[in-house]
Parts: sequence; C-alpha cells; structure tokens
Amino acid sequence: MAILKVARMGHPVLRQKCETIDPDTITGPEVQRLIRDMFETMVEYNGVGLAAPQVHQPVRLLIAGGEVDDEGRTRYRILINPEITVQDENDRLGMYEGCLSLPGMRGWVERPASITVTAWNEKGEKLDFALEGFPAVVVQHECDHLEGILYVDRIEDTTKFAYEEEAERFLDMAGHDMEEDEEPAG
Ligand code: ZN
Repeated sequence: MAILKVARMGHPVLRQKCETIDPDTITGPEVQRLIRDMFETMVEYNGVGLAAPQVHQPVRLLIAGGEVDDEGRTRYRILINPEITVQDENDRLGMYEGCLSLPGMRGWVERPASITVTAWNEKGEKLDFALEGFPAVVVQHECDHLEGILYVDRIEDTTKFAYEEEAERFLDMAGHDMEEDEEPAG
C-alpha cells in the first residue's frame, strides 16, 4: 500500500473529464491497487471521500464516506463509473464543504438532498441505491471530481468561502446538519 500525493487546485488533472473504467478490469490488480492506495491516502489525510483524479488518476473511481452504520462505524462506498439521478431538484441541502485538493478552505455549497446512484463496486458488482443528507452530498462532491468540477465552482455566495479557521470563527458553520467532529473534506 502507499499514501499517494494529492493534487491541489490548479493541477490540470483536477479539471479533466475522467475516463470510464472497463468493468471487467475492476477485480484486476491495477484497479485493486488504486482502490487500496486511495483508501490509505484518504484515511491519512482525514478525508470523508476521495476521487481518483485527486491522486492524479483521471478515471471514474471514487470512495465516499459520511454514512454511519448501526454500531456507529463509518461506512465507505467504493463507486466505479457512478451515475447520479437527482430525486427532487428543489429539495436542497447546504453545508460548508471542504476538499483535500483545497486544503484549509471551506465553502458553502447547496446541493440536492436526495439522489439515487448506480455504479459498480470494488468486487465488480452493479449497485443501485438511494442516499439522502450528508452521504448524498459526499457522493455528489466526489462525482463532480470525475467531471473536472470542484466545489468552488458551485459556491454562489463567495462571502461564504473562507479559510477553515476564519470560517469557524466568523461564519455560521453550525448552520449545516453535520456532526461537529466530522471533517467534510473530500
Ligand atoms: Zn474534493
């Protein structure tokens, strides 16, 4: 396993549309190694999610957390070639998002609160599931990376874009529905 270097905003790999992964290659060594390395990298940098272009691999693969199981453990989903369908464009959820590619920054973004997702998982199985609330936001943030979109592109009010320390001091970080110790960086 290896901790990978995370691309920061300005690197062109974050701005390109990522390539589809052939589902037949998912269980092969190359994709499996990328998944393991991305997981280790995400944990090392305390991310709630990570997309492959953030580790300089412009392919449609992401890891998304934000879900907690019945025993209070975070559940991570590995999603390959994900496709999102928004349930209700008018039902929106706003929060201060962060991103490992913009370290130390926070910005207010509003997104649809409930989605359905189709994707392949790390075993090469086809998934079809619904998400709402914070986990839905995380998956949308990571899917944006696969299109070369960063959360800053979705900030409508740039007075709500700040360094983390100032955001905590001066902005209403409590105005979202996340747990205080959660680290919304992906
Ligand atoms: Zn991100």
